[in-house]
Amino acid sequence: MTGKIKKTHRVEIIADECKGCGRCINACPKKVLEMGTVFNFMGTTYAVYKGSGCIGCGGCFYACPEPGAISVIEISEDDNEVQQ
Ligand code: SF4
Ligand code: SF4
Repeated sequence: MTGKIKKTHRVEIIADECKGCGRCINACPKKVLEMGTVFNFMGTTYAVYKGSGCIGCGGCFYACPEPGAISVIEISEDDNEVQQ
């Protein structure tokens, strides 16, 4: 029998690459992103992942105007992480 590897996802946001536009927050169907309260080096708050609930749809990634600010990471059951 072939077992299916269970996958979960998480999001990583680089604080100093994020300009705090909020597009990712609006794009997320699961509402698992929010604006943080800490300032980055540009003096703006930046988006943060709430820590659970991401389904890996990629909506935040495609909505983000800043290359490299946000990454969706797939985590397989064996703890291998793949950046998408
Ligand atoms: S990948 Fe989808 S579910 Fe996960 S944070 Fe981005 S928009 Fe939300
Ligand atoms: S869409 Fe990109 S730049 Fe805008 S708040 Fe989200 S991560 Fe930051």
